[in-house]
Amino acid sequence: MSFVRGLKCRECGRVYPTSPIYVCEFCFGSLEVDYDYDQIKKTLTRDKIENGPRSLWRYRELLPIDGEPTVGLYSGFTPLVKASQLARVLGVKELYIKDDTVCHPTLSFKDRVVSVALTKAREFGFDTVACASTGNLANAVSAHGAKAGFKRFIFIPSDLELTKILGSLVYEPNLVAVKGNYDDVNRLCAEIAGKYRWAFVNVNIRPYYAEGSKSFGFEIAEQLGWRTPAHVIVPAASGSLLTKIWKAFKEFEKLELIEPVRSKMHVAQPEGCSPISTMIQNRSEVMKPVKPKTIAKSLAIGNPADGYYAKDVVCQSGGAAETAGDQEIIDAIKLLAATEGIFSETAGGVTLACAKKLIQKGLIGPHESIVISITGQGLKTQEAIQHHLAKPFLIQPNLSSFEEHVDFPEKKPFLSQEGAKSCR
Ligand SMILES: *Cc1c(COP(=O)(O)O)cnc(C)c1O
Ligand SMILES: [Zn+2]
Repeated sequence: MSFVRGLKCRECGRVYPTSPIYVCEFCFGSLEVDYDYDQIKKTLTRDKIENGPRSLWRYRELLPIDGEPTVGLYSGFTPLVKASQLARVLGVKELYIKDDTVCHPTLSFKDRVVSVALTKAREFGFDTVACASTGNLANAVSAHGAKAGFKRFIFIPSDLELTKILGSLVYEPNLVAVKGNYDDVNRLCAEIAGKYRWAFVNVNIRPYYAEGSKSFGFEIAEQLGWRTPAHVIVPAASGSLLTKIWKAFKEFEKLELIEPVRSKMHVAQPEGCSPISTMIQNRSEVMKPVKPKTIAKSLAIGNPADGYYAKDVVCQSGGAAETAGDQEIIDAIKLLAATEGIFSETAGGVTLACAKKLIQKGLIGPHESIVISITGQGLKTQEAIQHHLAKPFLIQPNLSSFEEHVDFPEKKPFLSQEGAKSCR
């Protein structure tokens, strides 16, 4: 059972049969999955989705697979957290965190895209999967590929965070650390993908991979009670996630599962790597590739593949672009943890810092509904904050050492209970 009609060029509209290809032969535009929405509309209801599995596969009618899902059966369907404490600090009324810090099994939204990519790779008959990654994709392909029994070749920039490297190595893939930045890795992978018959999740099967990101948007709409928020703030590396959240909203609208979409899509990038945000802020039609220099390594793509599409969505929806510096990223990670008990990686720091600025500038109104996209787990980027936190109290294992070194309000009355002791 599949509602996929094939692939379609995003530029000239030419159609192609479902296969592991990603560029249009005629105009070199990128290809996108095309569905038969009339057929989907006949079967898909809110009820059907609500009674589906508690994973991204509850939206399988809108995902590009033919058979049953075989990878990522526990991925996705993460919490949408009502963030009332953070809302108070930011001075807004209705704020939510879409929390993919707890996505199964590798704690980032990349588990979604890889679930779809590897299910599709198996349908195409591949026995080897590969990717170019800024870290989280490496973790997800390594883990999902292990469980699904694929051979794996994972390409990363050699200067990634320790936990992102360990978080791939533990699953025993062929991990290739390239002396260069992500854009160098990506260029190399395009070459390798041309030579070997592997499923490169973000090269030759990118059209299918990218569809997995829609589940992030479907969940936001379903979990808000079948409506879309006034504002969504999304971090961008390649820019794909942002465009797919929008596509998800528009598909739900087309299927009449929700009211017409009026959400504004805002893009968040680190100051040290902001080709998309800068293009939008400068009202330029041309994206200038950059050499990334930021602690938000998962967002460090200097020449984003979906940059122009992301810009189109931001502008079309009436959204805005923002950037955040390293210190703002660190402060935002700490703010999210201290108010909502959520430990985000650096990408989430970027997103919250940018959301805060958009609120301060009045581009997001205090009475409008807001969703902040938190896409990865803080334990993976500990280097970024380890020198920016308080130290633990260090004490001897006895009561007097505890009371000597630790300050807390109850201590004074407790210490002055001498009288109580002498009554015995
Ligand atoms: C990959 C990634 C993103 C951005 O994804 P794109 O679709 O390439 O824009 C955002 N956050 C985290 C944590 C990521 O790993
Ligand atoms: Zn084309």
